[in-house]
Amino acid sequence: MSKEVPVIKQADLIESVADALQYISYYHPKDFVDAMAEAYEREQSAAAKDAIAQILINSRMSAEGKRPLCQDTGIVTCFVKIGMGVQWDKTDLTVQEMVDEGVRRAYTNPDNPLRASIVADPAGGRKNTKDNTPSVVHVEMVPGNHVDVAIAAKGGGSENKSKMAMLNPSDDIAAWVEKTLPTMGAGWCPPGMLGIGIGGTAEKAAVMAKESLMDPVDIHELQVRGAETADEKLRLDIFERSNKLGIGAQGLGGVTTVLDIKIKSAPTHAASKPVVMIPNCAATRHVHFHLDGSGPADLSPPSLEDWPEITWEVGESVRRVDLNTVTQAEMEQWKSGDTLLLNGKMLTGRDAAHKRIQSLIESGEGLPEGVDFKGKFIYYVGPVDPVGDEVVGPAGPTTATRMDKFTDLMLETTGLMGMIGKAERGPATVESIKKHKSCYLMAVGGAAYLVSKAIKKSRVVAFADLGMEAIYEFDVKDMPVTVAVDSDGVNAHETGPAIWKVKLEG
Ligand code: SF4
Repeated sequence: MSKEVPVIKQADLIESVADALQYISYYHPKDFVDAMAEAYEREQSAAAKDAIAQILINSRMSAEGKRPLCQDTGIVTCFVKIGMGVQWDKTDLTVQEMVDEGVRRAYTNPDNPLRASIVADPAGGRKNTKDNTPSVVHVEMVPGNHVDVAIAAKGGGSENKSKMAMLNPSDDIAAWVEKTLPTMGAGWCPPGMLGIGIGGTAEKAAVMAKESLMDPVDIHELQVRGAETADEKLRLDIFERSNKLGIGAQGLGGVTTVLDIKIKSAPTHAASKPVVMIPNCAATRHVHFHLDGSGPADLSPPSLEDWPEITWEVGESVRRVDLNTVTQAEMEQWKSGDTLLLNGKMLTGRDAAHKRIQSLIESGEGLPEGVDFKGKFIYYVGPVDPVGDEVVGPAGPTTATRMDKFTDLMLETTGLMGMIGKAERGPATVESIKKHKSCYLMAVGGAAYLVSKAIKKSRVVAFADLGMEAIYEFDVKDMPVTVAVDSDGVNAHETGPAIWKVKLEG
């Protein structure tokens, strides 16, 4: 008797990938929301608690509005496990091509367009491919007769902080993580998960680290039942050591730096101990589905009751700032750690715009008409395109550290007053901020939809060809920021974690 062979339709995989990417652009996994809500309850640092509150409020708003959690809608990574018994209805497309077609449809969906962030020719022209393809696809043939897919949209800020080491066999992996995590700064938008791949070869360890992030947050179950394997013992050890570092939400110092530690391991060479660590950020986005020939995946929406009822009230000490009239003297009163509500006009710009500004200044050509940074703040952002009556799509901050190499030039030559971004600034930039009596303000990375609601007007001022990297002028109302580096050079990303590290060690 012949057993029926399941036939998987290419169209079903394409449609399921497209649906899954739309789904994860606005729904956090429930386990992640629960872990973040628990971190909120436990947090004792006021700055970190504020940041977690904004992340949770943003998460609920995105789920309600079906708009992206973060302006960086990620690079797509897809693990496809194909049962050896499966047949395809057509053989003209590779698995990579099917997944890419799903990505293309998801990212250009007119109801919820996602930001296209992929650039081809990465060492050369870095030209945007416009539809977020190609994705990174890992295919594995497995026993069985269905297709399993785990798909994620990974933010660049957290991906950039990935670390790798070829340790000696006798080296302590937990000690390596403890030493390495503080060097990753806050650009990965903690709190989140760390995926760790151990063993195999260099590339195998990296793939295992990434795949481990597809699992749900469940460290508390492990804490309750106790570790049974070496990997489980290591998870608990690293979890404890990481949270004792005091890095905290957004690197501002606090109790929770990681929500979970995930580990995948494989046998390795007797002379080797490859380790790769990849962080997952506040925009943790992944979903799993499987196809058995009966049609596309059915992803049911979560219930809004899954989100905690959290409100975020500005404290009494908050200052309202009018960016249209703010003076140098007023700015110099702001102290590191203060919360401000920004009102008025600001200009935007990120990597590509800064590179172009630098070459225009250095060539003596000067800035294009309408671009005048004198007395202005620059917001490091690359927004999602708007839909319906939106002024702008989700527009959270990008990692300011990448703009460090341009900051002295900007402060020295353009009359720029201050900057707004996320994550820490390097020592030379903090010095430059102090020298120019400027300041650096921080918005919450991963709270992009919430931030976009503070933007009341938006227009492109220059470099329209750069797409989301163009220079915009935003008119904002009560946009919440924290003073991260004040005009005296006091840096909240140093002082916050230092204070909390001591407290937690105590
Ligand atoms: S939460 Fe932070 S690291 Fe993650 S995608 Fe958004 S900006 Fe990037």
